[in-house]
Amino acid sequence: MEINAKEFSNNDITVTYDPCQCTLSEVCAKELSDVFSNTVIPWINLDNATKTESIINQVKRCPSGALKFHLNNKKKAS
Ligand code: SF4
Repeated sequence: MEINAKEFSNNDITVTYDPCQCTLSEVCAKELSDVFSNTVIPWINLDNATKTESIINQVKRCPSGALKFHLNNKKKAS
């Protein structure tokens, strides 16, 4: 099985990272270091965030657009 190292998910969202777009501003690692690391691999660990909202807010602050997110599809209760 192939693992996409540039895609990171928790129960709520999936965050994608495009290294070609990243300007290495380190805004993500400085502002939300529990989730975004510039020293540890894998460098994005969504499980370390207390709230998914804080991840979404941080992704939106990425100046280059290298970080993006989408909400995971949830099964609707029938
Ligand atoms: S904030 Fe965006 S541009 Fe800056 S290091 Fe993180 S991913 Fe790269």
